[in-house]
Amino acid sequence: MSFDLVLKNARIGGAEEQAVDIGFRDGRVAAIASELDQDAPFEDLENRLVLPGLVETHIHLDKSCILGRCHTVNGTLDEAIAAVAAAKRNFTEADVYERAGKTLEKAVLQGTMRMRTHVEVDPRIGLTSVRALLRLKQDYAWAIGIELCVFPQEGLLDDPGCEDVMVEALELGADVVGGAPYMDKDAHGQIARIFSLARRFDVDIDFHLDFGLDPSHLDIEEVCRKTDKYGWGGRVAVGHVTKFSSLSPDRFETVARLLESAGVAVTVLPSTDLFLTGRDHDHDVPRGVTPLHKLKAQGITCSLSTNNVLNPFTPFGDCSLVRMANLYANIAQVGSPAGMAACLDMVSSQSAKLMNLDDYGIAPGNPADLVVLDCASRAEAVSELSPVLAGFKGGVRTFSRSAPILHRPV
Ligand SMILES: [Zn+2]
Repeated sequence: MSFDLVLKNARIGGAEEQAVDIGFRDGRVAAIASELDQDAPFEDLENRLVLPGLVETHIHLDKSCILGRCHTVNGTLDEAIAAVAAAKRNFTEADVYERAGKTLEKAVLQGTMRMRTHVEVDPRIGLTSVRALLRLKQDYAWAIGIELCVFPQEGLLDDPGCEDVMVEALELGADVVGGAPYMDKDAHGQIARIFSLARRFDVDIDFHLDFGLDPSHLDIEEVCRKTDKYGWGGRVAVGHVTKFSSLSPDRFETVARLLESAGVAVTVLPSTDLFLTGRDHDHDVPRGVTPLHKLKAQGITCSLSTNNVLNPFTPFGDCSLVRMANLYANIAQVGSPAGMAACLDMVSSQSAKLMNLDDYGIAPGNPADLVVLDCASRAEAVSELSPVLAGFKGGVRTFSRSAPILHRPV
């Protein structure tokens, strides 16, 4: 068997105990074995970890990198929404393309190869951001697969004309429909409209849901009811759900069973949740990060993601999903090697499952989309924040980063 390229001595995540050779042919993984064809061009990975390209399920490219344009004081969710709504009035297609492209390139260099970006649409911004991101999706297809999830950040029912723009965006090529029910007076009414759009366009759903810390009312129950009613199990995700962090163990258990039986996936955005939550407390501040690993242990599809980059929702961001896994493990007090490996799965295989990526994973026949990390195991990647050194998409190298070198005195 001949190969276009062989990666030698690779430790594939999930089976990292033993190093193997991975052979590429025609853009796909053609073979995996302890030793492959010596005549093919090869690269020796020297026992480094190899993962399928990382997966970002929830990021806002359109409103990234606008910190300098926003003035905020309290650091609350409401303030962030208002500040971005004001800044958004001046967005142009070229401006969104430029900022989103900068953020996207950072993500690519951190090993992200699949991405769901949430895009705001409303009667004021119209399709400006959608058009910019559709162009970006095309221009960067060599490095990353992007899907667009359009959603009404400023409300749907209470913002007349917004649904028409959502429909136009879906007709133009948006892949997923999203919601933010807490933005409308009638949250259940918005949930119903989003399901109606999803059924009309046959697309998956991704909600921003259950923000805050007061668990006396949860919208997740309605989302699960509708998911069951329309047979949308496996096609619905909910993000943030900071209210789950305030649930007593028995209520948390009840919600977990509900999610599991409806087939609703969960995304936690640790950086944003930590930054925005509990602003009304002056000590003993609750952190609002839902214990996602406990949901994962119950068979629920769970993803960790970046959410916002350099804006009033999150004034941080290197777009590193390995860092997000590390941040989560730290705040959720996950310390065992198996637990840390599971955190890495939540930025790779679990996230791929949330996005229904059927061709994901390093296996013969799948696209040769993979990244090389400077470590030997998933647990080590999370505990030591190991850098991503290289990526291959369709068998072609898409980026390189150098491993650090110590210059000892001679
Ligand atoms: Zn978000």
